[in-house]
Amino acid sequence: MAAAADPVPGRPELPISPTVLTGWGRIDPTSARVADPMRPDEVAGLLRTAPPRGAIARGLGRSYNNAAQNDGGLVIRTTGLNRIVGMDEEAGVVTCEAGVSLEQLMRTALPAGWFVPVSPGTRQVTVGGAIAADVHGKHHHLAGSFARHVRWFDLLLPGGDEHRVTPSSDPELFWATAGGMGLTGVITRAEVQLKKVETAKVAVDTIRAADMDEAMACLADADNRYGYTVAWLDCLARGPHLGRSVVTSGDFAVVSDLPVSQRGNPLAFDPVARLRAPAVCPPGLINRYTVALANEAWYRKAPKRRDGEIQSIGAFFHPLDGIRNWNTVYGPAGFRQYQCVVPFGAEAVLRRVVERISAARAPSFVTVLKRFGPGDDGYLSFPMPGWTLALDFPARTSGLADLLRGLDDLVAGAGGRVYLAKDSRVSPEVLAAMYPRLSDFRRVRAAIDPTGLLASDLSRRLEL
Ligand SMILES: Cc1cc2nc3c(=O)[nH]c(=O)nc-3n(C[C@H](O)[C@H](O)[C@H](O)COP(=O)(O)OP(=O)(O)OC[C@H]3O[C@@H](n4cnc5c(N)ncnc54)[C@H](O)[C@@H]3O)c2cc1C
Repeated sequence: MAAAADPVPGRPELPISPTVLTGWGRIDPTSARVADPMRPDEVAGLLRTAPPRGAIARGLGRSYNNAAQNDGGLVIRTTGLNRIVGMDEEAGVVTCEAGVSLEQLMRTALPAGWFVPVSPGTRQVTVGGAIAADVHGKHHHLAGSFARHVRWFDLLLPGGDEHRVTPSSDPELFWATAGGMGLTGVITRAEVQLKKVETAKVAVDTIRAADMDEAMACLADADNRYGYTVAWLDCLARGPHLGRSVVTSGDFAVVSDLPVSQRGNPLAFDPVARLRAPAVCPPGLINRYTVALANEAWYRKAPKRRDGEIQSIGAFFHPLDGIRNWNTVYGPAGFRQYQCVVPFGAEAVLRRVVERISAARAPSFVTVLKRFGPGDDGYLSFPMPGWTLALDFPARTSGLADLLRGLDDLVAGAGGRVYLAKDSRVSPEVLAAMYPRLSDFRRVRAAIDPTGLLASDLSRRLEL
């Protein structure tokens, strides 16, 4: 939806286009002037000449709501900063620009036997976005979140000055930026420690769990036995079936796990999105009836138990990436993602959350339950030791606002929190109760950005 482009003052080669943006959930559209710099010095120039409404970085726009939007201001899209600067194939250390996607990293590093240290449920996120949201994956219990594996990043501060930030040189700025949703500056480059793998395949065990207790017991057991584990949960099941799930757990396969036909090229990785969501989806396609049917089919299709299935990286880590633009199936009104974590010991609260969703017949097409290990030091990092539940609700679901407000209270009351990369509606007061280190974040932010030049729709709503 780009309209006429204006040049940046003094930089006629770098147009800025008025554009309507949303996050992946396609709700809350706002208009900003979007610039696509190709070099860090262009980003610095943009920050120096940012309008009064401020500036925010944007990667691939995979955060669900408006963390990478800036209504009436400037959005600096970093996908043009997409160079791999270098890779030490012995040590598995890669230096890259911040707009490099995790898929690009995988394509570069897998042939040498290295995988990204943490992979969220899509590989279509940038390294900058992965640091800014301090993303987590299916092996948080072992690996923590993304920033733990970042040796340094280069950060352009609001005035346009660049700093190389390491966890030891400037721990406050490092941990305010990790999970800081772009509000401490624009990351331009980073050095990331990768994870050694012998193949590009995962050996996966699947268990169908008949109810919530069984699902949670399977997940707890899997933490001790596997690197990666997650449960898909039927959020509409009720009564004795409440919380029934399909739990998949796995580890990267070694060559001898592969069928002989695949052993010649064990690191082959060439993912493609085979399907495409229809260009126009009718409003209301995803509703409590269609989701109940889909959930039933998904649950029944899963084996009661299957061991050692060899899956591709795409099938195991990023199944949704197999369908291009799957976010359009919710129709023009879009969808709201809700992801919370409650600490271990608050299992009864987690159960009440699932009970409430089931009782409200609120249809979530993709519902994921997993366990987090110890959190990292990011002031606004989401993970903490406990249970995390992620759901996608059509935005038009009746009664959704009240349902989610009630869940916020349950979660906050249990000492848990919601994830900023997905949030679209929590209040500033509730957020402050959920993130005890918010004041540390604000202190660092005030020191580097006293005029609040870095701003987003999310930061204004939550008074970050
Ligand atoms: C299908 C799907 C599955 C997902 N699964 C997971 C999951 O399992 N775990 C998880 O943790 N997350 C998950 N996410 C969320 C996603 O990983 C994060 O929202 C991530 O931040 C998106 O990266 P992006 O490059 O698209 O950033 P954007 O969405 O464009 O921006 C996100 C934030 O990062 C900031 N930012 C982006 N680039 C920079 C930069 N260079 N410098 C400073 N700040 C920057 C933006 O200002 C914004 O605040 C999922 C999202 C989708 C769509």
